[in-house]
Amino acid sequence: FSSAPHRLGFGSANPTGKIPLGLKRKGLRIVVTGGAGFVGSHLVDRLIARGDSVIVVDNFFTGRKENVMQHFGNPNFELIRHDVVEPLLLEVDQIYHLACPASPVHYKFNPVKTIISSSILENLDSINSTNVVGTLNMLGLAKRVGARFLLTSTSEVYGDPLQHPQKETYWGNVNPIGVRSCYDEGKRTAETLTMDYHRGAGVEVRIARIFNTYGPRMCIDDGRVVSNFVAQALRKEPLTVYGDGKQTRSFQYVSDLVEGLMRLMEGEHIGPFNLGNPGEFTMLELAEVVQETIDPDAKIEFRPNTEDDPHKRKPDIARAKELLGWEPKVALRKGLPLMVSDFRQRIFGDHKEGSN
Ligand code: NAD
Ligand code: UDP
Ligand code: UDP
Repeated sequence: FSSAPHRLGFGSANPTGKIPLGLKRKGLRIVVTGGAGFVGSHLVDRLIARGDSVIVVDNFFTGRKENVMQHFGNPNFELIRHDVVEPLLLEVDQIYHLACPASPVHYKFNPVKTIISSSILENLDSINSTNVVGTLNMLGLAKRVGARFLLTSTSEVYGDPLQHPQKETYWGNVNPIGVRSCYDEGKRTAETLTMDYHRGAGVEVRIARIFNTYGPRMCIDDGRVVSNFVAQALRKEPLTVYGDGKQTRSFQYVSDLVEGLMRLMEGEHIGPFNLGNPGEFTMLELAEVVQETIDPDAKIEFRPNTEDDPHKRKPDIARAKELLGWEPKVALRKGLPLMVSDFRQRIFGDHKEGSN
């Protein structure tokens, strides 16, 4: 393996290897790429509240300034409009790398951009400083400044899983030429790059495999099932169930995810770790919970399913429980109302709140 690092320019490993634990709590400088998005902005809230200095790097493809506006004027907060496919020079201690279109509607919009944002363009032989992007740039940054790097990967690396529930040791069942591949394979490649920078250049890395997450600040029209159902019920439109509605997902409230990401970053284990709520629902069951929460009279309308839709998905979180001391605390029926009030406010505005 020793010649590969040379070819990739992996000459100098991080000289200290570790961020001294004693320095952790105070004065950390942290980059959150994708920090103006749904998950990123909640993470930023927690980091700022803890007293860290946070730099958000976001190109606003799906992120919104409103998500982080509460920190404008805070000297510990900075917002940079920047696309991670371009190199970035910063001095930081930790990098949370979230930047990537995340909903199927968004990531299919420009699939080539999706794969290069989250992984690399073309092939490894052509790696040099011109055609490498996204995750690679952030890993290059981590390597240069000796920062710890956390990748937000996804349960999609398991594809349409043949193992249920999914453990981190499962290698997955992904269609490499399908319409979801730009995302699935992009994240799989991002995991590969992350481990290669760890093995080859000594970068301290962490990998989270995030399962379906919901909560306030989700894009209202991102086409994801929870945002669709909630917006539809509030607007008195039918809930659109794709296929027969018997496919399953496991829905995690965003504060649980953020807690897991921070524990992972601060802990001693690389991962990958599944971060998700093992509570599993069919889409028809989810529709029922939305009906109970918003409008018992909401109608259900069946629509054709999308291509390559995974039939079921549920995390095995034994590893995160044991090594991070983490498990989700917010059940779907508790978390959904919190998201509903945010959506109600954004769809109807304050003045109409309560009228629906
Ligand atoms: P989001 O779309 O709300 O946030 C992504 C953010 O990244 C947005 O602010 C967007 O503007 C920004 N972005 C996209 N491409 C960029 C680029 N090239 N340069 C700079 N910024 C860019 O999505 P989210 O749900 O908050 O997801 C955050 C991360 O978590 C993503 O990496 C996603 O793949 C991962 N994830 C999310 C879920 C989930 O259910 N929400 C599940 C699995 C994995
Ligand atoms: N990079 C970056 N910021 C940095 C250091 C590197 O954006 O502070 C980018 C750099 O432009 C390159 C990528 O990260 O495209 C990988 O960097 P690395 O040093 O690992 O590879 P090399 O440049 O030697 O090919
Ligand atoms: N889905 C649905 N109705 C919608 C949107 C999605 O029934 O309005 C289904 C979709 O077919 C999939 C599941 O909900 O089986 C989760 O889809 P989502 O896009 O939220 O997430 P992902 O497929 O990435 O897990």
